Amino acid sequence: MNDSKEQVSFMIWTGDSPPHVPVKELSTKLVISIIGNLSSTIRNFFPDLQVFPALGNHDYWPQDQLPVTTSEVYNAVADFWKPWLSDEAISTFRKGGFYTQLFESSNSHQPLRIISLNTNLYYSPNKVTVNITDPANQFAWLEEILETSSQKKEKVYIIGHVPVGYLPYARNTTAIREYYNERLVKIFRRYSSVIAGQFFGHTHRDSIMVLLDEEEKPVNSLFVAPAVTPVKDVWQIETNNPGVRLYQYDLFDYSLLDLWQFYLDLRDANKKNESNWKLEYILTKTYGIEDLKPESLYEMAKQLSMPHSTLFEQYYSNYIVSYDKTILCEDGCKTCQICAIRYLDHSSYTDCISQEAMWK
Ligand SMILES: [Zn+2]
Repeated sequence: MNDSKEQVSFMIWTGDSPPHVPVKELSTKLVISIIGNLSSTIRNFFPDLQVFPALGNHDYWPQDQLPVTTSEVYNAVADFWKPWLSDEAISTFRKGGFYTQLFESSNSHQPLRIISLNTNLYYSPNKVTVNITDPANQFAWLEEILETSSQKKEKVYIIGHVPVGYLPYARNTTAIREYYNERLVKIFRRYSSVIAGQFFGHTHRDSIMVLLDEEEKPVNSLFVAPAVTPVKDVWQIETNNPGVRLYQYDLFDYSLLDLWQFYLDLRDANKKNESNWKLEYILTKTYGIEDLKPESLYEMAKQLSMPHSTLFEQYYSNYIVSYDKTILCEDGCKTCQICAIRYLDHSSYTDCISQEAMWK
């Protein structure tokens, strides 16, 4: 990252500290101590850096069952994150695992608002929130914050763990429950002029999404960053290399300009017994676009959608963080990837899937 010669202003940490092991191998006590360990590790490495964390579905015990009221885990994690967050943010976090905070940059004339969502409340395996229309009143809270931000002409970055939209590796499957997905998409469309970027994790893979408004105009750029840990399902042939990234933003309006994706070739590291992190790609250079604004990402998405697009092969290789260039994503695989990039709501996504023949 030093090679990029960029000055880092803050860190976004999208959650999931505990290992992804069976529930019985962990406990509330263990989960809390793991999050505590990782929080202090980050603070020791970056003592002066502002960090904005978000909770993941594994940052709870039993996993995925994040509650809609205060809990032992929310309280313990709030204490770990106190050095980074304001009293107001901490108090909201204790109640529902989400918060908002302003980032004051010395180089920028206006502050940036971070909204850290607890999207785990909407995550399909979360049984606690079944049949709750607004878990922890997070939707009402989010709308209120965005409305105030819009009146104050603030710019907002949304951060969260489980992403909105459709999973690129599955068909017709949203990561969060469909009802919540529709509601979030609606809110993000309505306040798209306030939201300058959205950042998620969870899938361990590297993907983008472009939010379109009702007239198919691109209005928001969303990024799912790959994880520092690999993950693989039994039915999958591919996994991911570890990755971290650096975004560049415009100091004037916080629009996103570029991203540098770094990765570790894990098999090589194991062979040599040393870790040699390398630059994997620079987004604008690799995809030939000007910046990361919605219009540019939309252009990129159109390029990727072309039949036999070599750019799409590159995208898929980046998607699995250069795990294996010989693994190709064709036909049905490509359809799901393309539709997940371009369409976040049920009706447009379903239309896209039904036009499968177009994406080959
Ligand atoms: Zn997760």
